[in-house]
Amino acid sequence: MTVLQACPVCGQGHLTPQVDTNTVVINGKSYDLPCHFAICNTCESEVADTDDACENARLMKEIRQRVENEMTNKLKEKP
Ligand SMILES: [Zn+2]
Repeated sequence: MTVLQACPVCGQGHLTPQVDTNTVVINGKSYDLPCHFAICNTCESEVADTDDACENARLMKEIRQRVENEMTNKLKEKP
């Protein structure tokens, strides 16, 4: 999200884009997952629009892919 948008919750405030970091644990290893959303400066609602949701889904996919690659590499190391 690059443009300030009107808040869909209260209709008065404006949304400020934020990026938070969530830690996800997969197979006992933790990964930092950036989480995109926006906060309203009036009602302080946290909203994720379609762009944010897509970006979050893409980043989650990327991490899952990385985990899969690591697992494949481990299998290759030990024949
Ligand atoms: Zn609001």
